[in-house]
Amino acid sequence: MLPLVALVGRPNVGKSTLFNALTRSRDALVHDQPGVTRDRHYGVCRLEGQEPFIVVDTGGIAGEEEGLAGATARQARAAAGEADLVLFVVDGREGASALDDEILAWLRKLSRPTLLVINKIDGVNEDAVRSDFARYGFADVITVSAAHRQGLDDLLDEVRERLPEEGAGELLDEDPARMRIAFVGRPNVGKSTLVNRLLGEERMIASEVPGTTRDSIAVDLERDGRQYRLIDTAGLRRKARVEEAVEKFSAFKTLQAIEQCQVAVLLLDATEGVTDQDATVLGAILEAGKALVVAINKWDGLTEYQRAQAEDLLSRKLSFVNWAEAVRISAKHGSGLRELFAAIHRAHASATKEFSTAEVNKTLEVAYETNPPPSIRGHVSKLRYVHPGGSNPPTFIVHGTRLKVLPESYKRYLENFFRKRFKLVGTPVRFIFREGA
Ligand code: GDP
Ligand code: GDP
Repeated sequence: MLPLVALVGRPNVGKSTLFNALTRSRDALVHDQPGVTRDRHYGVCRLEGQEPFIVVDTGGIAGEEEGLAGATARQARAAAGEADLVLFVVDGREGASALDDEILAWLRKLSRPTLLVINKIDGVNEDAVRSDFARYGFADVITVSAAHRQGLDDLLDEVRERLPEEGAGELLDEDPARMRIAFVGRPNVGKSTLVNRLLGEERMIASEVPGTTRDSIAVDLERDGRQYRLIDTAGLRRKARVEEAVEKFSAFKTLQAIEQCQVAVLLLDATEGVTDQDATVLGAILEAGKALVVAINKWDGLTEYQRAQAEDLLSRKLSFVNWAEAVRISAKHGSGLRELFAAIHRAHASATKEFSTAEVNKTLEVAYETNPPPSIRGHVSKLRYVHPGGSNPPTFIVHGTRLKVLPESYKRYLENFFRKRFKLVGTPVRFIFREGA
């Protein structure tokens, strides 16, 4: 389980600015994708060489959103009570206010480890601001400017120090022969139906994995002689009442499940296409760099005409992840499941494929000779060599010079070239470009 850090504070102190600064994807590829949206409340802070953690923006205190957005907002506020660390964010320009006092009283009752973060420190006298908030009695006070990305390194150091070493880890240090799959998607796409069908159909050599917390249930499955661990979102619990459908959707659990899985299966509802919320879940899978299979569920409910329309719509909406296989299924009738598992295995095999330095260099050479980088205002990038940089997802580290002028379109060309050459399907592929020899 990833640790949870909650941002709490009155409106306008800069929580969402700080949230964005902490969770902004360092992977430009993901960020620039049209068709991917971000959750306004939950995100993952990923720093190289460090354990990631989940950040929740608890929003303003009032909050009057409706429907699913409202449920997510209420959950976000409730999340403060379960956080490993609360960042109490205040506004250094305006100083302490009555509303801050109220929130502080609430936080004291919550009694979670809390750090005072004074934001908007740009252009104000830091000592004066610190003494203004001194009466709050925090031993540790961090000053930042979220908007100018000042003080964030210090803040992150303090956060790290206060987080549990590593999540409890029961789900992660595993028998490598047991593939971890997460079925994720928004409410009502059919996750529970699918999981129950899988467990029932296969006479359930399934048992709940012990030692997992109340919020995270995993279940083991044997299917066609292979071992799987299904990582829960909402799918593993039977629904008590229909009204719970909205409330039970938890962005937090979805992020956790994505983090813990090796292959994420994104369920879509064929009758509804790709909604914003589907796009948010998809974005989280891409940011985590996980292998992906799209399962288009409820295929049974469509006429021929509707199927053609759905095919057309989905292929347009998902064109930017055209490397992912889309499988049509009916969780209700159990159709398409063999194809689904075949695609899961292909994705997993691609994501974990090993490469030799020689073969990737050969590939770069051919790609380069077939189509060298273009000249940009008289400058041409030179690609010198490449070496494999790991799997999950497959990563290639390209060394060269003048890489600043290497166009995005050329990077896509390289990616596609490598994909074709190595038959990589169902996994993101990452290229890292390093200037110099
Ligand atoms: P939230 O309501 O707490 O989520 O606050 P926002 O993140 O929406 O920020 C409220 C306003 O404060 C916006 O206009 C931000 O641009 C501004 N703001 C946020 N961080 C800083 C900062 O570090 N310095 C300054 N000067 N303004 C900031
Ligand atoms: P979850 O919220 O994602 O777990 O979704 P559920 O499994 O609870 O399913 C939501 C609704 O969709 C239920 O009424 C299911 O019976 C229905 N449903 C699930 N899978 C299928 C399917 O393959 N075909 C059809 N027609 N309905 C389905």
